Amino acid sequence: MKKIIIAIDGESSSGKTSLAKKLANKIGYKHINTGSMYRAVTFVALQNNLIFDSSTGFDTKSIIKLVNKLTFDFKIVNNISNIFLNGVNIEDNIRSTMVSDFVSQISTIKEVREKIVSIQRDLGVKKGVVMEGRDIGSVVFPNAELKFYVTADLEVRVRRRFNELIEKGINIKKSLVYENLKKRDYLDKNRDFSPLFQCEDAVLIDNTNLTIDDQILIIKNHIQKIT
Ligand code: C5P
Repeated sequence: MKKIIIAIDGESSSGKTSLAKKLANKIGYKHINTGSMYRAVTFVALQNNLIFDSSTGFDTKSIIKLVNKLTFDFKIVNNISNIFLNGVNIEDNIRSTMVSDFVSQISTIKEVREKIVSIQRDLGVKKGVVMEGRDIGSVVFPNAELKFYVTADLEVRVRRRFNELIEKGINIKKSLVYENLKKRDYLDKNRDFSPLFQCEDAVLIDNTNLTIDDQILIIKNHIQKIT
């Protein structure tokens, strides 16, 4: 079977990661969650006190310098792709609400995006990847053989994210999850560089009422048509 690039873009908590992970496992492809790269940068920027509060912003110059010193790797741990920053597994650190609160601001920085996009292109050079994010079909791999745009009703996405956080032992009000998703969607869709949108050649999957297996079936049908 010919190896291809499958680009999955979509809104926050639309279930891209669960879908991409299961799909990649089923078809023997590599799964790359690009959101974790922007989260990783946000995490180290926070650690280095380069992000202040929402009114005072962040130290763009120092963050750009920092990003250029970072190496990103993805390794499989317990069957799941984990992100390593400068050799350290930080998968468990990047899903905090603090990181979620700032990641969409940090990912507006053009130079941060350029560095991360070039790494993503290297990761996909041999094809056989399912890459998920916000700009995979539009910027990272505009020639990807298959592109999908995943969405679901906001309330459904809030419920999913809220349950995920509670399961991880993170106590948070549902209203804060709602505010965070709405804000991230807005920032991601309205930024100057690489905003999130559905590419003309992307297949829309609204999974409000679909299971992961339903979605995998849809994607597999598209794969069969072209490989
Ligand atoms: O996918 P996830 O929700 O973990 O992504 C976190 C944030 O990273 C997004 O809200 C977005 O601001 C940023 N992101 C991006 N481009 C990507 C992937 C994620 O700007 N390709």
